[in-house]
Amino acid sequence: MAINGSARNGAAVELPPRETMEFDVVIVGAGPAGLSAAIRLKQLAAGQNSELSVVVLEKGSEAGAHILSGAVIDPVGLDALLPDWREDGAPVQQKVTSDRFLVLGPRGDMRIPNFAMPPLMSNHGNYIVSLGDVVRWLAEKAEALGVEIYPGFPAAEILTDNEGAVTGVATGDLGVGHDGQPKADFVRGMELHGKYVLFAEGARGSLTKRLIRMFDLDVDRDPQKYGIGLKELWQVAPEKHRPGLVQHTIGWPLDDKTGGGSFIYHYGDNLVSVGFVVHLNYENPYIYPFQEFQRFKTHPAIAPLFEGGKRIGYGARALTEGGWQSIPKLTFPGGALIGCGAGFMNVPRIKGSHNAMLSGKLAAEAAFEAIQAGRSGDELESYESNVRSGQIGRDLKRVRNVKPLLSRFGTKLGMLLGGADMWLNTISTQLSPTLKHGKADYAALKPAKYYEPIAYPKPDGKLTFDIPSSLFLSGTNHEEDQPVHLLLADPKAPIRDNLPVFAEPAQRYCPAAVYEVVKNGEDKPKFQINAQNCVHCKTCDIKDPAQNITWVTPEGGGGPNYAGM
Ligand SMILES: Cc1cc2nc3c(=O)[nH]c(=O)nc-3n(C[C@H](O)[C@H](O)[C@H](O)COP(=O)(O)OP(=O)(O)OC[C@H]3O[C@@H](n4cnc5c(N)ncnc54)[C@H](O)[C@@H]3O)c2cc1C
Ligand code: SF4
Repeated sequence: MAINGSARNGAAVELPPRETMEFDVVIVGAGPAGLSAAIRLKQLAAGQNSELSVVVLEKGSEAGAHILSGAVIDPVGLDALLPDWREDGAPVQQKVTSDRFLVLGPRGDMRIPNFAMPPLMSNHGNYIVSLGDVVRWLAEKAEALGVEIYPGFPAAEILTDNEGAVTGVATGDLGVGHDGQPKADFVRGMELHGKYVLFAEGARGSLTKRLIRMFDLDVDRDPQKYGIGLKELWQVAPEKHRPGLVQHTIGWPLDDKTGGGSFIYHYGDNLVSVGFVVHLNYENPYIYPFQEFQRFKTHPAIAPLFEGGKRIGYGARALTEGGWQSIPKLTFPGGALIGCGAGFMNVPRIKGSHNAMLSGKLAAEAAFEAIQAGRSGDELESYESNVRSGQIGRDLKRVRNVKPLLSRFGTKLGMLLGGADMWLNTISTQLSPTLKHGKADYAALKPAKYYEPIAYPKPDGKLTFDIPSSLFLSGTNHEEDQPVHLLLADPKAPIRDNLPVFAEPAQRYCPAAVYEVVKNGEDKPKFQINAQNCVHCKTCDIKDPAQNITWVTPEGGGGPNYAGM
């Protein structure tokens, strides 16, 4: 009757068997990629008058609850998937009306004229949206077509057959205590089996990371590169609102060796999305991305916009930056990686949602064709070749050298060289060689002894804020009595290794104050994990210099509850 299971904290417990549900296609993640795949599968089935069962698992409490993006979207993804979106109530209303790019110094700013920007950087024809709202709308479209969406159900385990092909996923158990033991309200997870499983977990997906290792998907590829993006949503004074204005900056407060920049998008009812990205290959372990973001808002060219306004949202999320060189092999027996889990973000355009949608559509077409031909559990090879040789490949190939140039030459010279390279690539992608990314982001950190701690200004509660008040706006929440979902391979490494060498950077790179080094009097310092604060950005999994932290899915529905992000 019962099978043996092993609780997260190591204590072996007897667990009842899991119930199994069978589908044609199982999709992990209800973001732009996962929902586009689901919609396309159902469209194709309807076109052939055939039955096809599609399920989407989402770890957030609802579709959109964990989505955090800029966002200025290129509508090519929507055009390809739902060409009638303009008449169909899509929350995609605000056309970009003007585009500004500024280089900030400590006190001044310099505007780069639009004519000097490579044409592919133009936002003409793009829209300013809340990607979370777009995802909620996509979820409605998918459900109307018969897709089953299960919010609050994280996929926690990959299921394989005897040959090693992926056959499905299992959702996490509910009602497990912090000691790993089942509580009174324990509910066993479910197994969802599919002919194909599409993984659409976004940047640094937890199962995607395992799949990349299981199937050696990153062999002969450059390491994936990442940034951390922090965002606030503001309602600004009406006289300061410029609907359709898109503004990007580079420079201050980051030094020239630290990549990143800001975005400010005006849309909706006096809404302004303001965000700050720090590239995670930064070297100085004292860098504190949350504080850099707060400091950025105090620049004389930025601060006046927010005077008299109100901050109404906060969140953070990693984004992929490796682009063309870092795309892993996309398929394995029984499934495929789609969206930003595979890394289709176009870094200089700061856009990935269009490629996420296009990749979901392509994977759906490959899976549908395979199922129609009576296949299952094999590789969807046409998906891989269509990504590389099609629209997504072309979009990423033209900008493939921008990130390596920034990493090598710093922000100012890197932008100049990157700009020249993008102009060349506008003519032909054959004119410049493909540059390499070098080491992974976690390996870029240098010892703290080479730097001074950075004195960040105190928050004023009007323009700049602390983490607790920010977390309140993220709506993040986790059941407290559950196993910690941030696993340390070696629990002693943070204090033994990271603290003396890197001044334990987790205290600063985490945008939710999850990690603290606490000292009580004469006691030895202790590494404390406040897991309930986590906003699922995945930065710790990426940047820990010891690669000691693994982010796994917490109990279903836990995490941020973003509205309008
Ligand atoms: C700060 C920032 C600004 C950005 N600005 C822009 C922009 O202006 N324009 C643009 O086009 N793009 C932008 N992007 C990128 C864009 O957000 C991504 O390209 C896009 O969201 C990727 O879509 P996705 O479906 O692959 O992944 P995601 O949007 O990350 O969605 C993944 C979904 O899967 C769920 N999930 C993950 N793991 C599991 C699991 N194991 N089980 C169940 N559910 C799971 C998540 O909760 C989430 O809902 C930005 C990103 C950031 C972080
Ligand atoms: S614990 Fe990790 S995933 Fe969670 S908010 Fe902090 S850095 Fe992000």
